[in-house]
Amino acid sequence: MTDSVSTQSGKARMIRELSKGPKVLLGIIQHPDERLHATNRAVGDFNAPGLKEFVQNMVYTIQRLRAVGLAAPQVEWNIKLAVAIVNRRPLVMFNPEIVEHGDEEISIKESCLSCGDAEVEVKRWNDIRIEYDNISGTRCSARIIGIDAIVVQHEIDHLNGKLIVD
Ligand SMILES: [Zn+2]
Repeated sequence: MTDSVSTQSGKARMIRELSKGPKVLLGIIQHPDERLHATNRAVGDFNAPGLKEFVQNMVYTIQRLRAVGLAAPQVEWNIKLAVAIVNRRPLVMFNPEIVEHGDEEISIKESCLSCGDAEVEVKRWNDIRIEYDNISGTRCSARIIGIDAIVVQHEIDHLNGKLIVD
């Protein structure tokens, strides 16, 4: 809610900058694999070697696979980082947390890049407010609704070691 307009252009600029270098289609870890259930470290150093390139490759992988989200532990990095398509753009979230939600629950048949053909209905909040660090390490807040909220909750579950098939 608070940053969705003001950071939109910054986000677009960041994605354009990230799009310059060579890109790698990342391999997706398939369930069952203990790395999908491991503890994921919070990110504190946003200038860590390889981190920005990794984010670029996550975005590229989502776009190539026509996916709506990807969490770092699915691609071998056990850190609290996920990308979700929100308002049709990649939203890069470090250390995301749901800080508020409405009462209404919704569900759709969800699939997952790590879970083959499985389709599972999972109850999710329809209306959430999240806080996350952007790629510069600035704490941001956003209100997310409907399908986008489902995607974000699915990705946050990954960061907590949880899959739709669990
Ligand atoms: Zn998934």
